Amino acid sequence: MEFLDSFKSELEVVSPGRINLIGEHTDYNMGYVLPTAIEKNITFNFKKNGTPDTCSVYSKTFDTGFEFNLKEVARSEVEWRNYILGVVNEIQKRTDQLQGFDCILESNLPTGSGLSSSAALECGLAFGLNELFNLGLTKLEMVQLSQTAEHTYAGTQCGIMDQFASVMSKEGHVILLDCQSLESNYIPINLQPYKIILLNTKVSHNLATSEYNVRKKECEEGVEIIQRKYPKVRSLREVTPEILDACKIDLPEVIYKRCSFIVAENKRVLDMTEHLKKNKLEQVGKLLYEAHEGISSYYEVSCPESDFLVDFSKKYDAVLGARQTGGGFGGCTLNIVHQNGVEAFIKEASAAYKSKFDIELEPFEVKPTGGTSAKELV
Ligand code: ADP
Ligand code: MG
Repeated sequence: MEFLDSFKSELEVVSPGRINLIGEHTDYNMGYVLPTAIEKNITFNFKKNGTPDTCSVYSKTFDTGFEFNLKEVARSEVEWRNYILGVVNEIQKRTDQLQGFDCILESNLPTGSGLSSSAALECGLAFGLNELFNLGLTKLEMVQLSQTAEHTYAGTQCGIMDQFASVMSKEGHVILLDCQSLESNYIPINLQPYKIILLNTKVSHNLATSEYNVRKKECEEGVEIIQRKYPKVRSLREVTPEILDACKIDLPEVIYKRCSFIVAENKRVLDMTEHLKKNKLEQVGKLLYEAHEGISSYYEVSCPESDFLVDFSKKYDAVLGARQTGGGFGGCTLNIVHQNGVEAFIKEASAAYKSKFDIELEPFEVKPTGGTSAKELV
């Protein structure tokens, strides 16, 4: 692309991916989640190009770019462009201050691995354009418009967790986010002498988006049926185990399984928060295993690769707990591993995974880090 030759950055934005310690699929059920940003991120460089409405975006990661006009931001056939176009479209609904810009982005965050590179992409762009053109958007507005962009342009009916975590995280903490009120609390997390080790299965089954939307619908169906007996219930977040029991007879088996996972998972987030506060690390690990059982057998969003790694980890005393993290069907497992056992665990898990699936496992340590940041360069 032409602009690349003479590009001189005015603004750098670093936009992180995230892990979620626990609370999977609870966000769009208006429940609780416990995520944090990690030190894997997308770096954006921006400059105004002096035109009223011509924009160029280039992804070094994908070695491809495109040009578009601010007056024409229709959805694209090319998947990744939709994250860009969707955000621009949402910003333009709120302000007419955008003008032509050039942007180059580069990532060390695995894509499609449950670490939310999509939210990092959306939020980093929103953050950058907000700074570059002084749009005056609040962080929460950027989070919300990025989420809407994912619904309307990318087609995933996601909750708010990913965008919230990418923008709002704080080093050394996880965020206890109430997805109904959007009230959030930073919970310090100190797992020493344990570390958070991610094992990237490197599979990302292509049912992820369609099944994600199916799960959301199944939960809504559950709420509709529960409302016949409990008209005040607005979401699964408001369903207690007692209410669920009373409605079991009315719910189709699959819907009951989905609902019971969400009800239990929501409670696990609150229990996890207490365990972290009291430094009860054994309990932290136990909850991860329980959550994975729910993800696999009740919510049915796991896959053989993730199940294999979680099962494998159970053979190691050094591992307190593990589960698949992210929307599902692959991506990474999150493992809490004693520092003295990390090396052996990674080595043996990699060998076993390779021999079972013929895939090189990608292991890495993550630490809770801060949210999106911007730096002016001129
Ligand atoms: P996840 O959010 O878990 O990484 P998604 O499927 O939601 O998985 O989002 C991944 C998609 O985001 C990619 O397929 C691509 O379209 C887009 N994306 C992420 N990172 C980049 C990047 N560096 N350059 C271009 N597109 C990217
Ligand atoms: Mg995503």
